[in-house]
Amino acid sequence: MGLQDKAYTLRNCKAVLVDSETVKLNVNVVIERGVIRAVGKESEGDEIDCSGLVVLPGLVNAHTHSAMIALRGYSDDKELRQWLSDVWAFERTFPRQLMKLSTEVAVLEMLERGTTAFVDMYFNPEDVREMTEKYGIRAQAGFTFLDSMFDPSEVERLQRGLRGTELFTPIINVHSVYSVSRETLKLAFELSRELNQRLQIHASETRGEVFYTKKNFGLFPVEFLIKEGLPEGSQLVHLGWIASWELDLLKNHHATYCPTSSMKLATAGAFPLYEAIRRGVNVSLGTDGPASNNSLDMFREMKNAVLQQRHNYWDARVTAKDAFRSATTGGYRLLGLKGGKVAQGYVADLVLLDADELYPFSPERLVSHVVYYTTGEAVKKLIVSGKIIEKETIRREKSRLVNEINESLSSLSYK
Ligand SMILES: [Zn+2]
Repeated sequence: MGLQDKAYTLRNCKAVLVDSETVKLNVNVVIERGVIRAVGKESEGDEIDCSGLVVLPGLVNAHTHSAMIALRGYSDDKELRQWLSDVWAFERTFPRQLMKLSTEVAVLEMLERGTTAFVDMYFNPEDVREMTEKYGIRAQAGFTFLDSMFDPSEVERLQRGLRGTELFTPIINVHSVYSVSRETLKLAFELSRELNQRLQIHASETRGEVFYTKKNFGLFPVEFLIKEGLPEGSQLVHLGWIASWELDLLKNHHATYCPTSSMKLATAGAFPLYEAIRRGVNVSLGTDGPASNNSLDMFREMKNAVLQQRHNYWDARVTAKDAFRSATTGGYRLLGLKGGKVAQGYVADLVLLDADELYPFSPERLVSHVVYYTTGEAVKKLIVSGKIIEKETIRREKSRLVNEINESLSSLSYK
């Protein structure tokens, strides 16, 4: 029986950021069977000295394309349409083994930088599932409906065979309204309902997309999806061009905001974070893929979320706490798990940061340091479902695999 199969204690944590509002100093965190049992003076089982560490809830990367590590830096400084065309050209001949290797490196990179769970949209969800078993990260992924590349009935067949595990949950991915036919969209909706798997789709990302749905269907993108019968609890990603009145259509769905990617691809618009939260929409945060961000660091993403909103509103109505909640409680709500807080009864998905890297140390400034100052570099350990993951182990494994990616790309003569 290993240390983490029975109750154990993170002893004397310098600070615990329970949630965006509460900090506890010099407390213990007791973990048992993957769940937080107590945060306070209690201690049980083996103890790990955490006097130099700050404990946060795990960060959820709510939208990425993990296998695109091989395309990092491949088509930068392009606008979305040209970028997509470059990327799709690469993907038509993307070697299967390189795709898997890329996903593995992305998983290690996310763990190394404080991501305890992620939602993936790509073509190799079985690799994602394998990585959850190998490294202990949580993930949700599925095959992707994208008519120019895959026969929809084949996507359906593969999706029906995709099984979940403790850490892996299948979802239905649809690339976007403009890259699938109306029939494919209906098929994906029906499959989502039948298999009871959440649907994820890029939506209202550009002005061009709004123009497309208006011209072809007479409706705005979100309005169109709802009218077509979008299954309850679906995940809509980007929404930079959502109309204010469309936000009310999202009450029973989830919104995912990817600020860095949308700024880098110059899609303009900006997800109306403040209004979405006020109207009760569940908002999570994602990096988008490594070919458009190009980082998978959720600390950077929290900062960029606030910065884009400041630039958009010309005031400080969106705060560091909003970004922190989107990356934690918003992310876990999307996953359907009781997580995102360091409190009794919540899943033991935690990030342990080096307290010396969060200076000047002050409980009142902790959320601010986490969002505006630090990066994934300050992560020392991670805990997912009660299992401890050491950063050094992850680092060693990652550097070995990065060498393989480099060799593979040079043998394929990609620049
Ligand atoms: Zn995306």
